[in-house]
Amino acid sequence: MFGFKMEHTMELKLNYTPEYNEEDLLNFEKEFSRLEEECYADHAGATLYSDSQMRNIIGNMQRMTYANPHSGGVAGANTHDIIEQMRNTVLEHFHTSVEEYSVIFTSGATSSLKTIAETFVFDRNKTNDAKNAGHFVYMQDNHTSVLGMRDLVSERGAKITSISHNDAIKIFENPLTFFNDNLHSDKNSLFAFSAQCNFSGLKYPLKWIDNVHKGSLSVFVNEKNIRWYVLLDAASFVATNDLNLSLFKPDFVCLSFYKMFGYPTGLGALLVKNSSSDVLKKQYYGGGTVKVVLSSEMFHKKRTALHERFEDGTINYLSVISLQYGFDILSKISMKRISKHVFSLMRILHHSLLQLHHHNGTPVVKIYSDTDYENGNLQGGIIAFNILRSNGEYVGYVEFLNMASLFKIHVRTGCFCNPGACQRHLSLSNEEILKNYEAGYVCGGSTDLINGKPTGAIRISFGYMSTIKDVDTILNMIKKCFVDGPLLYKLPSWWDNYKILVQRKYCQSFENDIQINDVKHKNTVNTSKRIDIISTSIFSENHINKLEKWPKYSKNTEQITLKKIFIYPIKSCGAYEIEDSWILGMKGLKYDREWMILTSAGTSLTQKQNIKLCLIKPVLNLKRNCLTLSFPGMPSIDITLEYPKMKSSEGLMCQSRVCGHKVEGFDCGLEISEWLSLAVGQPNLKLIRQNNFGSKKPELSFSSQAQYLLINKESVSWLTDKIHDKDFKKETVLSRFRGNFIIEGGHPFQETNWQTIMIGRNKFRISGECTRCQMICIDQTNGEKTVEPLRTLGELFHGKLRFGIYLSNIMTADGIIKNGDTIVVEE
Ligand SMILES: *Cc1c(COP(=O)(O)O)cnc(C)c1O
Repeated sequence: MFGFKMEHTMELKLNYTPEYNEEDLLNFEKEFSRLEEECYADHAGATLYSDSQMRNIIGNMQRMTYANPHSGGVAGANTHDIIEQMRNTVLEHFHTSVEEYSVIFTSGATSSLKTIAETFVFDRNKTNDAKNAGHFVYMQDNHTSVLGMRDLVSERGAKITSISHNDAIKIFENPLTFFNDNLHSDKNSLFAFSAQCNFSGLKYPLKWIDNVHKGSLSVFVNEKNIRWYVLLDAASFVATNDLNLSLFKPDFVCLSFYKMFGYPTGLGALLVKNSSSDVLKKQYYGGGTVKVVLSSEMFHKKRTALHERFEDGTINYLSVISLQYGFDILSKISMKRISKHVFSLMRILHHSLLQLHHHNGTPVVKIYSDTDYENGNLQGGIIAFNILRSNGEYVGYVEFLNMASLFKIHVRTGCFCNPGACQRHLSLSNEEILKNYEAGYVCGGSTDLINGKPTGAIRISFGYMSTIKDVDTILNMIKKCFVDGPLLYKLPSWWDNYKILVQRKYCQSFENDIQINDVKHKNTVNTSKRIDIISTSIFSENHINKLEKWPKYSKNTEQITLKKIFIYPIKSCGAYEIEDSWILGMKGLKYDREWMILTSAGTSLTQKQNIKLCLIKPVLNLKRNCLTLSFPGMPSIDITLEYPKMKSSEGLMCQSRVCGHKVEGFDCGLEISEWLSLAVGQPNLKLIRQNNFGSKKPELSFSSQAQYLLINKESVSWLTDKIHDKDFKKETVLSRFRGNFIIEGGHPFQETNWQTIMIGRNKFRISGECTRCQMICIDQTNGEKTVEPLRTLGELFHGKLRFGIYLSNIMTADGIIKNGDTIVVEE
């Protein structure tokens, strides 16, 4: 027992970096047990709350009676006191106090920035003359929420100037002193920069704050006698770094708490240096912000304390109370250690990524960074990069996301709301961005490559609870999915031990003992050792196939026939094969995707979220007028095919969204709901059936795209031939594409050139190709995930993840489709 414990602790210790002690580690494992199979690497998007943090918050809420802080009375006064106390906690965390800074609670960093934009006075004397207004200067590498300030402040006369990354470094690293009568000027100017870039993790020197106050930007805007103020966007920085306001004194600081400890969301702060607070003039007032107000006349007096003037209405007081439990965690670990921990992890990841090479020696990643990840004062726990194939082509980030989700890796892709940094790192010109916009690129969209050039990047970011296992999962995934040869791979010294220990637990992801020992002993001779981490069988010869072109055939000379017909009565569940013939309905094949499963949140449940859905097998029994569902280890269950007699009562109707579209259906009842929940192990599921009433007849069933999906068996064979993984079960590929019509005969990919076709006596128009995602990596026979065939599809078709064509029925003789029907392609 004792032996196990020791080893267990040791194993944990090695799972984190040496920054953490054993006590922390045992805690983390308990606190984040939900991460056991997940790799969460989007901490710059939002970090995670811990189990005990949430338990403590709920416990507190259950125990206490909190009244509105404006209500007075004992309960109201108590709420008020706790909120005031929390302001102290926030200030203490940043090494300052109420004497020097004020805390204004806002809904987040963005709303803090907006507050500054709305209230900063650029012309102290309010002459309303643009000549007397100061400047708004911002770094181009800033969050969109900072850029949005421009339009507000320019309306109030501010002159807007942006500084490029390189110019800022030039100006601040060799400041030309320009005598600046800072204190006696009436022109107020504001400089906004980010303490840590949320794109690359670069930490901008905080000594710039002092430089700005001393007037080093006056040269840049070419004007003397300006009073300079600094707005520090600390939203990304404070998540994993120690912001010390006793050393650096920005006038304004904005942040969001969910980035620091995950919960609560919707709460942030604007910190204001008291001596600079007179430069903010707020117009609006609401409940809580005034001392006295007349309703019949335009008269009011604002409260005196800064935060009282700025927090309109009732603040989010229950969330403010919850902050305590987040700060407790951070202070227990200490921000300095957190900062070192995330940096060490990122350093390993960065160095390992750089070591990845394809078989032909070309690099696998293009990293976008301003540092070499050797100095934790300049670099935080974020990395942005793109993946390259061995022929130098970029992998689109959508393809990357699809593969990452197979490994339960959560990352963010795109430009991360930092267009300036994105543009600089990806070398995109303004013209290119505008052209990309015309070609379909929008922030947060899925157009990842335009003319082969990436429109964004992949970002990995770590938080205080991130582990080496996370680093390993990410590296392993990239190796498995995107590297086509043996690897060059350098390890930190304490990594070897870690591997041997962790290997027992996660053995499939590591190479065998002999290889590890091999590395260890030879390390002294050569630090970069070759390790064949991936099985070569998967990757041999892939780079040859890649050069192959999309096959093209001119004439339809061979006989093509409809070989199989499938329907999927419940969206995202098993298939039902039609034996002979079937009815073409208004919305597709009769009963196809007529049902769907809703989660307790009212969203559509698919195999992406719960892989077990593919094991729910439907059988249509028309004689008995029922749909029978079966699931391994469960008694089967019947659902009637009868529609409810009358218009369904309101209470039974359900609304949901499928791919952004509103859909409506009626609830099939409690019995099936319980059966489904038990089968797939998720509480409160509901089965709903497409609503056949209503004035507008829907054109589609619950399928998200089109009426019918056609798959050509010849194309499937062509693709499966290119898969080199010997363990991969090729016979499972066809069912993974989940087609309605399976055709045979003719040439591979012939179908992609078709416009209209006849199947038997039915005419169809081809409405497009089907875009594929990680769904095709689920073996429909047993619910297991593999990287194939998506990996090969992405590689062969240069990231265009398309397979199969969509059809819509435009004419029919008798509304019947039969197995064995001949396919005639219309020219
Ligand atoms: C996240 C972030 C913001 C915006 O924060 P919200 O919580 O979305 O308001 C602004 N700046 C930086 C650097 C960030 O990382």
